[in-house]
Amino acid sequence: MKSVRLNGKNIIPSKIVCIGRNYVDHIRELGNEMPKEPVIFLKPNSAISSEVSSGADVEIHYEGEIVLLVLAGRLAAVGFGLDLTKRQLQTSLKARGLPWERAKAFDGAAVFSEFVVFDGDLHDLRLELHINGRLVQQGGCDLMMYKPDTILAEVSTFLSLEDGDLIMTGTPAGVGKVKAGDEFTGKVFTAQELLVEASWVAG
Ligand code: MG
Repeated sequence: MKSVRLNGKNIIPSKIVCIGRNYVDHIRELGNEMPKEPVIFLKPNSAISSEVSSGADVEIHYEGEIVLLVLAGRLAAVGFGLDLTKRQLQTSLKARGLPWERAKAFDGAAVFSEFVVFDGDLHDLRLELHINGRLVQQGGCDLMMYKPDTILAEVSTFLSLEDGDLIMTGTPAGVGKVKAGDEFTGKVFTAQELLVEASWVAG
């Protein structure tokens, strides 16, 4: 089983719960309909990787996201994550009304920073994603259609969350293609304070 790091210790998520279409600017960017309820899908534990792949024979796109880690039913820690997506395949699957797993749940589709315990106000969290030093994505809980507490309540109506489970809270505008050699730096802040930062060079 794959693990993530929480305050220097390994922790094994049983699943990764992902929220789609949670920022209005990103919904417009992809030309999607505004959801009437949170769009929820899962990535398996096996999707977790410490490396960002540009894809051998298929384009992979990045989505920078604030990620929350569940402990004892609470949103107890925060990290930065990349929801990696085979966009053309996802578009094709969506058009045919088919599940997205081939485009979203493949090995290597979930890349995370370390997680840090957080007991401040979740609404203050915001992210930045830089590629080769250029800011390409930024956003925060204030811009989310569904805020962390609402997401937790909605997910809990039909899924049991285990200690270590992760919630990817959706991506703001600015998604794009992963290119080999690009350096990705993700950061999560609360107010003005940097909570967590990680960098990866795409292979
Ligand atoms: Mg996403």
